[in-house]
Amino acid sequence: MEAFVLTLVILCPLVGLLIGRSRNCQNAGLLLGFFFGPLGWVITALLDYRPHCPECMEVIRMKASLCPHCKTRIRWHKGKPTVAPSVESS
Ligand SMILES: [Zn+2]
Repeated sequence: MEAFVLTLVILCPLVGLLIGRSRNCQNAGLLLGFFFGPLGWVITALLDYRPHCPECMEVIRMKASLCPHCKTRIRWHKGKPTVAPSVESS
């Protein structure tokens, strides 16, 4: 019985963390998994804090400098992606 409870206490937040990591909200996933178990996993899977390209609105990686979908140059300001001004070539 003790082992079962211990497994739940470790497993639930861990799975929440792993689900949250793919959605860019690992801390929320950890807490939701700890307090709500499998229900917290579902809530975490519904959360999505992944950054989106300001031009085409597709999901991009954190700190990406170039959108893989529309090739827009991206500048990061206070954790949010913005379109970088185009470099003038002379
Ligand atoms: Zn884009």
